[in-house]
Amino acid sequence: MGKQKADIIVIGGGVIGLSSAYHLSKRKVRVLVLEKQFPGSGSTGRCIGGIRLQFSTEASIRLMQESMAQFQGMQDEFGFSVEFQQGGYLFLAHSEEKLDAFRKVSKIQKNLGVDVHILSSADCKALVPHLNTDGLIGGVYGPKDGQAYPFKVLKGYLDCIQKNGSEVRLFSEVVEILREGDRVTGVKTADGEELYADVILNAAGPHADRIGAMAGVEVRVAAERHEAFITDRLPNLIKPMLVDYRPDGCYFQQMATGQIIGCYSPVPNIPGTDTQASIEFISEMAKRAVRLVPELWKAHVIRHWAGSYENTPDLSPIIDKTSIKGYYLACGMSGHGFMFGPAVGKFVSQIILDDTYPYEWSEFRLDRDYSHMELMK
Ligand SMILES: Cc1cc2nc3c(=O)[nH]c(=O)nc-3n(C[C@H](O)[C@H](O)[C@H](O)COP(=O)(O)OP(=O)(O)OC[C@H]3O[C@@H](n4cnc5c(N)ncnc54)[C@H](O)[C@@H]3O)c2cc1C
Repeated sequence: MGKQKADIIVIGGGVIGLSSAYHLSKRKVRVLVLEKQFPGSGSTGRCIGGIRLQFSTEASIRLMQESMAQFQGMQDEFGFSVEFQQGGYLFLAHSEEKLDAFRKVSKIQKNLGVDVHILSSADCKALVPHLNTDGLIGGVYGPKDGQAYPFKVLKGYLDCIQKNGSEVRLFSEVVEILREGDRVTGVKTADGEELYADVILNAAGPHADRIGAMAGVEVRVAAERHEAFITDRLPNLIKPMLVDYRPDGCYFQQMATGQIIGCYSPVPNIPGTDTQASIEFISEMAKRAVRLVPELWKAHVIRHWAGSYENTPDLSPIIDKTSIKGYYLACGMSGHGFMFGPAVGKFVSQIILDDTYPYEWSEFRLDRDYSHMELMK
């Protein structure tokens, strides 16, 4: 049998790998996506679908402006709805210090044309009448933020990748990256097959550090466990995603179909790739959600699960080439990969095919010093 060769091998069939393969295949290169399980089996299928423009740096805001434009066009592009809706994001401030931080960040956002509003506690109540405003000072509201359904986005990418003549191979785990000197030549899979390409993109989400090491590249991505729950369908209760930043806070939104879907960030964090859901989460999350919107006592939790964030030290992604010729990275999404996905796919395809960065890119470079922290985490 002859050697199997693609133009580009993408490792990982989550939103980042599939969006990248979609944008690359649109430009007539033959892409082979290798996914160790199935699309969405990693973090993408475990996320809660939130999409927002509200970030704290110009580079991340511009990334999200590109993503938002793509989410808006997905129905036309894919030929079906991905349940994209713009119900907004409301970040809550329970201290003056937090509200001040929101004020500062909202200036950067406004300068870039993002529609954001600083709200008083009474404004927040007017926007979300069921909100418990005890201890609330105010908030920041982005009406254009929203949500989409991750599985439908993945399905849209899969259809297009196949239509464009590229391939997604399931249950194909990469165990080795093949190199000749300082350039990549292909990969070896768990069943011993060697597949060749001059370009390889590491889009392995929480496993990107391991896939980096296979090519001798240090990728500073560390997985940590995050859990989520979903309730049964409820009548309309909340329009925007609510984000309560207190250490014992949580964040959740109501889906177009009525379910409440949400999570909290555990303090302290829980490092590692373990995705076993915990009993503690379910009672704690219910308590926190009901504290914020007391009407939620009526909800029934129908499912809960765990997944991984894939954090870099400064919580910004790594979207870059490396010192190994042909080896590229699109990883370290730090809990925002679903919303970053459409833009990351487009921009990494430019980095690979045109060898240009779309704009001032130091925030996403592999060799940055990782000291500038994303504040709207
Ligand atoms: C509870 C929770 C809530 C979240 N909520 C949001 C949200 O509201 N909005 C948002 O934007 N983000 C959210 N996120 C973050 C988001 O899910 C991730 O940032 C995003 O899915 C990362 O996408 P990815 O493609 O990089 O990784 P993944 O989806 O994990 O895809 C990587 C793929 O690589 C495959 N893989 C790994 N190793 C190999 C190998 N050796 N060979 C072949 N394949 C391999 C895996 O099987 C996996 O499918 C949330 C995450 C969690 C856990």
